[in-house]
Amino acid sequence: RAKEDGGNGYRFFTSEMNTLASDRLEMESGLRRALARGEFEVYYQPKLNLADGCITGAEALLRWRHPQRGLVSPGEFIPILEETGLIEQVGSWVLKTVCTQIRSWQEADSLPPLVIAVNLSGRQLQRSNLAATIADILEETGMDPRFLELEVTESVLMHDPQCAVDILMQIRNKGILHIDVDDFGTGYSSLSYLKQFPIDCLKLDKSFVDGLPHDEDDIAISQAVIAMAHSLRLTVIAEGVEKEEQLAFLRDNGCDIIQGYIISPPVPAHAFARLVQARANSTTAPP
Ligand code: C2E
Ligand code: MG
Ligand code: MG
Ligand code: MG
Repeated sequence: RAKEDGGNGYRFFTSEMNTLASDRLEMESGLRRALARGEFEVYYQPKLNLADGCITGAEALLRWRHPQRGLVSPGEFIPILEETGLIEQVGSWVLKTVCTQIRSWQEADSLPPLVIAVNLSGRQLQRSNLAATIADILEETGMDPRFLELEVTESVLMHDPQCAVDILMQIRNKGILHIDVDDFGTGYSSLSYLKQFPIDCLKLDKSFVDGLPHDEDDIAISQAVIAMAHSLRLTVIAEGVEKEEQLAFLRDNGCDIIQGYIISPPVPAHAFARLVQARANSTTAPP
């Protein structure tokens, strides 16, 4: 279309395209080296059980410590990892890192049992050997599968629901009991598939939590998701809880678990461990 706008438009357009393309290439080659150079890190964001005020575990979130740019957030580089296929290696690295971390927390014996969730991308789920890869990592790290949780977004599940059912079943057969539907409400779930997926939790997307407790649509959607999840015997986690009034609404409306800056942003492993200990030692349980 730029070409039709005339000569100048065309030139402007291509130079902008070139910048974008070279940024992108630079990112890509940086990412190819990042694993070998040890530039990836895993951060942990606590999940808080509203019934007893205890931290039940965390979500593991990938970070890239770029030598020049500092900490880069996954929104910028996960899509590139996906497109290039690098996500398979990096995804395995995340699983291995998390399993090793959980084992070392368990061995140190200073923390209550924690369940840690790892995000799986669409590309990972498309691999027929995903369940075997996970089983290998569990064995290699000596990790009890009950303490590993997996998150898959609603849109990834619905991309090829029958294939997702099969792969998730295989994963479940490896002893992984916690599988969450991430960003719930932003995809197009077919309720008949929701019933068939071997899942145990829905994560209410942050975009619905944002408007609580004032926006009428967000109120209606959150209440409907909580009611539906509970009648399907699923747990509900609310994502992106930032305000006291959102927390109060979610607690009053029967939401089970919350995650968000109001408890803590994602933090490095040692900081997460300290946070759990501080909470366990304090007598006042509710947030
Ligand atoms: P997600 O799985 O939905 O993770 C939740 C995101 O919300 C995280 O962003 C988290 O930092 C952010 N968040 C949590 N609480 C709050 C809050 O109160 N306010 C705000 N504004 N944000 C909050 P993050 O870490 O940037 O990750 C973005 C996405 O990247 C994740 O969304 C997930 O889809 C993907 N991702 C992260 N790590 C991995 C990974 O290891 N593998 C794969 N495949 N995807 C990952
Ligand atoms: Mg997630
Ligand atoms: Mg999410
Ligand atoms: Mg989200």
